[in-house]
Amino acid sequence: MPEKKHYIFRSGELFIQNDNTLPVEVPHEFEKWISDSIDLNLFGTEAHVTLLDSDGTKQTIIPDASWVRLRSIFAAPESALLAMASSSARALGIINWHHATRFCSRCGASLVDSTTEVARICPSCKAIIYPRLSPAIIVAVEKDGKVLLARHSQRNQDMFSCLAGFLEHGETLEECVAREVYEEVHLELQNIRYAGSQSWPFPDQFMIAFRADWKAGDIRVDPTELLEAQWFDKDHLPNTPMPGTVAWKLIHDVFAPMSKK
Ligand SMILES: [Zn+2]
Repeated sequence: MPEKKHYIFRSGELFIQNDNTLPVEVPHEFEKWISDSIDLNLFGTEAHVTLLDSDGTKQTIIPDASWVRLRSIFAAPESALLAMASSSARALGIINWHHATRFCSRCGASLVDSTTEVARICPSCKAIIYPRLSPAIIVAVEKDGKVLLARHSQRNQDMFSCLAGFLEHGETLEECVAREVYEEVHLELQNIRYAGSQSWPFPDQFMIAFRADWKAGDIRVDPTELLEAQWFDKDHLPNTPMPGTVAWKLIHDVFAPMSKK
């Protein structure tokens, strides 16, 4: 039987060997920092996933290996690491869920792992709890060759990004796009169209990307959500999210055809 692959994480970082392969075991130096672990099938490959306490491992140096941010794996299309992107995202999303899902939300009993599927089971009331995904839309709104970008009031205040928000019960993805944009900047949209998706296990998001055209209205921001929002053209882009993020790809896609001209 082939050896199990070991996916070892600490807060969004994956531990890999310097030859870009996964370790075949958890280094013993890490053992006292293990927060959680689980055996998983990752798209047909048996794997063992370990979550470490982040602060504890900061001082621990392992020869010929290092920590890589999962976001940088997403951002490395030419790299050998990209082959790990999907399996790493699945591994991280599930270990995040597993670590945060210890007690039954119906009766409060301690949960145990299912032996037949990726789920946790309540031995008391028999509830079955599956890994949670939180779907969220992100949208690049376009007008006259410019893209709408905003600075958020709660996070990454030094950066302009696309508008985004969580899907609510009862709405379609397109309705969610229209609602989020209207709530945050009071613009109406047309031609809302799908532009891709990406697993985003920080801790459990699934991003569904859209492009849309401005239809009506002037920008008027909701100050509880945004500090400011503006239209930007290709030559005057502000500080935007890093490659590997959904937002970067969306912004890049808006301007890519123009830059080829
Ligand atoms: Zn229960």
